[in-house]
Amino acid sequence: MLKAAVLGATGNVGQIFIQQLNGHPWFKVSVVAASERSIEKAYSRAAKWRQPTPMPEEVADLTVVPIEPNAVKDVDVVFSALPADIAVKTEEDFAKAGYIVVSNASAHRMEPDVPLLNPEINYDHISLIEEQRKRRKWDGAIVTNPNCSTAVLTLPLKPIYDKFGINKVIVSTMQALSGAGYPGVPSLDIVDNVIPFIAKEEEKLELETLKILGSPLKPADFKVSASCHRVAVLDGHMMAVFVELKHEAEPESVIAAMENFVGEPQKLRLPTAPEKPVVVRREEDRPQTRLDRMEGKGMSTVVGRVRKDLVFGGVKFVVLGHNTIRGAAGCGILNAECLKAKKYL
Ligand code: NAP
Repeated sequence: MLKAAVLGATGNVGQIFIQQLNGHPWFKVSVVAASERSIEKAYSRAAKWRQPTPMPEEVADLTVVPIEPNAVKDVDVVFSALPADIAVKTEEDFAKAGYIVVSNASAHRMEPDVPLLNPEINYDHISLIEEQRKRRKWDGAIVTNPNCSTAVLTLPLKPIYDKFGINKVIVSTMQALSGAGYPGVPSLDIVDNVIPFIAKEEEKLELETLKILGSPLKPADFKVSASCHRVAVLDGHMMAVFVELKHEAEPESVIAAMENFVGEPQKLRLPTAPEKPVVVRREEDRPQTRLDRMEGKGMSTVVGRVRKDLVFGGVKFVVLGHNTIRGAAGCGILNAECLKAKKYL
């Protein structure tokens, strides 16, 4: 068993890491770290557990330690669920101390020598670790997973990009409340309401998509325009996507490309890899957030309403994905499994 630390273990994403790692065949949580508010307390006292499954017993009794390399001893991998401003220096400190940091935070995602992995799409970007170690003269590494909406959008785009090419993407999101952490958006602001602004989200979606779909050193060269909206659902980001293709294609060919898409995690049969990264539904009223967000244990995206787009002459569709599983902790765990497969762990 490989030993894992979770930084930011008491938070929203930290708890999902702990939930998803419970019973994992390769990784066992042996260290939990959080802010001064929580340190020296038992995890069961420090964390206000908000998951529908019970807190894993083996984690409940762990004492919370500070987010410092000296305090996190004897682990093989560090999962980071820290706020971005805290992650900037902390994740570098851990990499300098020789740890492999698998991060959810946006702090290092867009740095050219840091892999931004959605591994069915760009498993080959793991090779950037060598460049990172050379440039930064450290033995550890920082590997990041995408922003929650980018993780969902890029999966169906990948088979389209490979098969037909893409000129432009327009995307309009309907994003869940859990994406804002806890306590997140005040209830009086979101009940009976839609908020048409999520700070920095559109920029992340527009830039991260190109880094993930590009080669390790060169972003993809199509254009993305995003409009992001917070809606009153708990989990699950849905988005309406409009794609201008390079080479004309009928919706049925696009559906076939999505349904046949598998990546390296599926070929390697990694424990957290869903059987299908993109599941296509043909009913006229699917996907629906409540019914479909747990597809593939929350690791698949669900696409529906694939049809011709009359403005672009391309295709349009709806995609749904679980924002804290596929879009956060689940993707981080899958990334760690990829790093083990590549013998970095
Ligand atoms: P959160 O619920 O606010 O949790 C933050 C965690 O960081 C807590 O464990 C907190 O510890 C710890 N922390 C805060 N300030 C700290 C400090 N100064 N020193 C040490 N630890 C500190 O946030 P979240 O929603 O889990 O998000 C965590 C990260 O994941 C963020 O970077 C976020 O952008 C990213 N992310 C979130 C989602 C999502 O869907 N929610 C998706 C993708 C990525 P205490 O409990 O002790 O205060």
